[in-house]
Amino acid sequence: MTTTTTTTTTTTTTTTTTITGHIATVVIGAGQAGLALSHCLTARGLEHVVLDRGTIAHSWRTQRWDSFTLLSPNWQTRLPGYRYRGADPAGFMTGAQVVAFFEDYARSFAAPVRGGVTVRRVTPLGRRWLIDTSTGTLTADNVVVATGDLTHPHVPRLGSGLSPRIAQLHTSAYRNPAQLPAGAVLVVGAGPSGQQIAAELAADGRRVHLAVGRHRCLPRRYRGHDAYWWMDRLGMLHRTADSLASGARRSPNAVLAGGTRDLDVRRLVAEGVVAHGRLLGVEGGIATFADDLAATLATAEGNAQRFRAAVDAHVAASGLDVPAESVPEPAPIPAAPRELDLDTVGAVVWATGFRRDHGYIDADVVVDGEPVHHRGVTTAAGLYFLGLRWQHRRSSSFIDGVGGDAEYLAEHIARREVDELAVA
Ligand SMILES: Cc1cc2nc3c(=O)[nH]c(=O)nc-3n(C[C@H](O)[C@H](O)[C@H](O)COP(=O)(O)OP(=O)(O)OC[C@H]3O[C@@H](n4cnc5c(N)ncnc54)[C@H](O)[C@@H]3O)c2cc1C
Repeated sequence: MTTTTTTTTTTTTTTTTTITGHIATVVIGAGQAGLALSHCLTARGLEHVVLDRGTIAHSWRTQRWDSFTLLSPNWQTRLPGYRYRGADPAGFMTGAQVVAFFEDYARSFAAPVRGGVTVRRVTPLGRRWLIDTSTGTLTADNVVVATGDLTHPHVPRLGSGLSPRIAQLHTSAYRNPAQLPAGAVLVVGAGPSGQQIAAELAADGRRVHLAVGRHRCLPRRYRGHDAYWWMDRLGMLHRTADSLASGARRSPNAVLAGGTRDLDVRRLVAEGVVAHGRLLGVEGGIATFADDLAATLATAEGNAQRFRAAVDAHVAASGLDVPAESVPEPAPIPAAPRELDLDTVGAVVWATGFRRDHGYIDADVVVDGEPVHHRGVTTAAGLYFLGLRWQHRRSSSFIDGVGGDAEYLAEHIARREVDELAVA
């Protein structure tokens, strides 16, 4: 038995359903991963439902700041059976445009999305799975966990040493400079989000301190083309997880911003940001930083050098007709202060990433927080993951890459329906 209520948001209508009974496949999460799989299952005529605690594209609606744009260009917004077809393929979607894109995608094949349903527990039940949700309990032959690799905003324990006077927020809760109280801002973390927010705050006239940890530099454009154009052409995004050492798979995301300008710490310093080493601690109103800024930048910039070298080698080997480009010497940066008196600081923005949480799955398939799987297929029959970082390829957790993994899982589920479940 199911009961249904309908809620209308500004742009879409989502069905909130109390679901009970049995369904062949339950997909948890209506982001790009859940929707891509839903498309592949629909194309095969396979019964399923997509449950989301919020609604379609919930993460893009609730965890991005006002000026957010994608880092990947529009032409690379490609999902199974659907792609960007607008007038600006080289542009970068805003957060609202990403949400609209996913809503249109879901509508294009009438994706069976049920919003407002939080999955609280997934438990094996004989050959089936028991799914306990905030609106009821159901069973399924297959469960696909497509809840995103970036579920829980991560704030290091260091935050507990800060005075309650100082506002603290994670990037997922940051919206715009006006949201922060007066005073300087300490941004902790120099990945893409940290550097973009630091740039925005500095442009707004704020005094900005940036605690710089591990990151990777990448030029936005090189030799006449966007970085993603080169990565696509050189097959960098399509590398499979088993072709690289596990250390390489843990490397941080490259720092880019939508548009054509580069984003890096030296540029931010030139724009007035004070760069520090990694944040070590907070005590007695003083923040202390490691003496590692120069070394961190050298490592980060090594990535950009390797990227340019790979492009140059490709151009030389292929004879591709692109202009040469000389790279200027990196701008010097002043010595990084090891301490910061927090009296002047009104807010700390934690650009310290996200963590997974699969604790609600009662199956022996998560070890030390890491799902154990091969291309998303676990050893627990009928339990799958989708959208994980490096699930199969470098692009597995990106909009442009999740489709291949979704096709693979849909095919696996289709075969299971025939080979295992039909004879049960
Ligand atoms: C700041 C930022 C910028 C990014 N920029 C790009 C970019 O430019 N290009 C690109 O390709 N990728 C980008 N990504 C990476 C990636 O595309 C996104 O993280 C994307 O949201 C991942 O899609 P997903 O479907 O795997 O997960 P999500 O979009 O997070 O979707 C998971 C869904 O699961 C739901 N959910 C979670 N737990 C439960 C539960 N227990 N019960 C029910 N529902 C649940 C959530 O509500 C959510 O809707 C970016 C990521 C971030 C954080």
